[in-house]
Amino acid sequence: MIQLQSIKKSFLIGKEKINVLNDINLTIEDGEFVAIMGPSGSGKSTLMNIIGCLDKPSSGNYFLEGDDVSNYNDKELAKVRNESIGFVFQQFHLLPRLTALKNVELPMIYAGVSKQERRERAVEALEKVGLSDRMDHLPNALSGGQKQRVAIARAIVNKPKLVLADEPTGALDTKTSKSIMEQFRELNEEGVTIVVVTHEPEIAEYADRTIMVRDGMIQSSRFERGL
Ligand code: ADP
Ligand code: MG
Repeated sequence: MIQLQSIKKSFLIGKEKINVLNDINLTIEDGEFVAIMGPSGSGKSTLMNIIGCLDKPSSGNYFLEGDDVSNYNDKELAKVRNESIGFVFQQFHLLPRLTALKNVELPMIYAGVSKQERRERAVEALEKVGLSDRMDHLPNALSGGQKQRVAIARAIVNKPKLVLADEPTGALDTKTSKSIMEQFRELNEEGVTIVVVTHEPEIAEYADRTIMVRDGMIQSSRFERGL
């Protein structure tokens, strides 16, 4: 599903060029559940942004489901994001003035889904994450774990084949973190490819494979569950 070949990424700060990703080669198969670990500042989020088509590599090729997206323009990348990828972030990124239901409906508005179908699919996604009784709540009236479940419902409502989560449990206590990871496992068992960034080993254990990033390079890739 994901094939990164010799991916490099650098940022220009003033006149200084800093190399953040140095020759990343990585293949993730359809249906895998992968954890990305590594020290703070090692380039994990930069890598996730490239995988998620939120940013482009400085050089190298990125094949997503066989298409070389490294040369796509912004509009083409936005289309790939909307149609094929769900995103979950550490700080949930819910809109505070919208109810859980409306937050989940939002990606479908961009996708041009009819009002009635939007409602049905948002209800279904919220039921799936166990929040049928919280649909009309505003984010502020929800716990951290519940907010993250709303974010997961929003991420899956367009039925993406790939879900990317950058430190999804970073703002949650251990018990809640584990229940969120159970939710990702369940999605993975239904066939969704999942990539999760975490710095907690017990969170990475939910994945089938852990990739270690250090200084913008993949240091090791080890199997947890013997796929
Ligand atoms: P991690 O997620 O592993 O903590 P990041 O990918 O966020 O690491 O960042 C890696 C390095 O790249 C850091 O030194 C960070 O300051 C730098 N960096 C990330 N994004 C940008 C950007 N947009 N502009 C300049 N530097 C950036
Ligand atoms: Mg990060």
